[in-house]
Formats: sequence, C-alpha cells, structure tokens
Amino acid sequence: MGVGGLGSPLVLHLALLGVGSVTLVDDEELDETNRNRFVGARHDDPVPGSPKVELAARLIREVNPDVSAVPLMHNLVSAEAFKAVQEADWVFGCFDEDGPRFILNELCAAYAKPYIDLASDIPADGVYGGQIRVALNGNGCLICLGKLDEQDVRRYLATEEERAHEDEMYGIPRGVLGETGPSVSPVNGVVAALAGTEFMVAVTGMRAPTMLMEYRGDESKVRVISDEPQADCPYCKGIWGKAKEADVERYLNMPHLRSRARALNP
Ligand SMILES: [Zn+2]
Repeated sequence: MGVGGLGSPLVLHLALLGVGSVTLVDDEELDETNRNRFVGARHDDPVPGSPKVELAARLIREVNPDVSAVPLMHNLVSAEAFKAVQEADWVFGCFDEDGPRFILNELCAAYAKPYIDLASDIPADGVYGGQIRVALNGNGCLICLGKLDEQDVRRYLATEEERAHEDEMYGIPRGVLGETGPSVSPVNGVVAALAGTEFMVAVTGMRAPTMLMEYRGDESKVRVISDEPQADCPYCKGIWGKAKEADVERYLNMPHLRSRARALNP
C-alpha cells in the first residue's frame, strides 16, 4: 500500500526474495519531483503518463517473472484496496502520512493480517532516518505503541469543511505545520531493506521479527525500541479478526476520503 520512495525499493526486495504475488496499490503517477527516488523508474518514463503501480509491476516482472505483480491504481480508501488487504497474507504500508496508516492499521487488525509499516522521517533539523513497525497476531500495533500523530490522523479523516474551520481557528493552515520534509533514495532504501529483512525472518521462521526499529541516518545507527504494547488495545484485542463488527467498510462511505489525493510519496 503506497508505492513510492519507500514502496518501490521494498518491491525490489520482495521480487528478489521470490514471494508468490505482490499486489501494488497506489493512485498516483510518477512526477518529476519523485523520479529521483523511485526504484524502477527510467529516465525516459513519461511524466505525466506513468502510474507508479505500473512501473513497480514492470520492475517485478523484469527482476523475477515468477512473481505475479498485480497493479491497482487506487486510493487506500477504495473497495479494490480493501479487498486486496482482505486477500493478502502480509500487508506493507509505505505512506508518508499517519492518516492512511491509521486506516490500514485498523483494516489489518479487523482482517487479522500481519502488517509491516515503513516510515521515513525527519523529526528535526539534521535528524533523519525512519522506523519499521511489525504488527503481528494482535500483539501490538501502531495505535497501542503510540506511533501515530493523533492530530495528523484527525486532520486526514476530517472533511474539507472541518479542515477549513480548524484553519480558521488556528489562523494558519495546520497542514503547513505538518508538512513532510525532503526524502532521499539511500535513506528510504535502508528502511525498505530493514522491513524486507523482518518480513524474511518472520516468514522463514529464522527468528521472531523485531516489533519496533528505528534507523537514524544522522548517527549511522539502527536501534531496537522496546516499548510495551497496550494490553487491552481496542485494535489488537477488541476488533482483531472481526471485520464485520468493526464495520471497517464505513470508510468507503466517506467520499472525502475516497477522493483525497495523498501528499507526495516520500
Ligand atoms: Zn494495538
């Protein structure tokens, strides 16, 4: 879910590892501003005219024709994407916003799917890197590990009117405050490789995957974060495997989410 600066290097690893099938979900086309970090884009791929999911599917087929690549040019909030999550064995989230992360976290809990979230971040000047979060079997997720910015999530879920009202109250557009920083290919590549490694050890049983990891490029370090998940998490425990009761499809009835273009991929 999300095939951009993080999703495209991950796709390369999945193809090389030889997974059976990869369903690619992203509604954007390649842009001149992200060509420099899209693994698999060629210098002469036309802009406009190159859906990211098609470029990633081409990459998979070129690397390993035994892997089935299914490109879906859709937003996360679409019947197609929800179905893809439902049918998947593993789900990877490669977003640059906490709003879609929140929705995908809930979907994976409701459909009882292992979920690996990739994030690159620049929390302060000169500080850069990313995080890899592995949510397995209802034993900790992005919500109960406190890894989502509630304000970002609320804003993502809000209607345009609610956003405008909020901007009016605060005086400056809140979106500007939460803008993501620049993103570069090698840093994304480290995050994608770490996520691919945790997937590999989990599916092969080499070892238990690490739940939370942080890469700090500015310190040349990878840290394991040992935060304890909340024991009574409403996602890990409450709605785990209960898609109907959780009514996850309510998101599909929110037209403002269906039509919302995501911010540029990291
Ligand atoms: Zn949880």
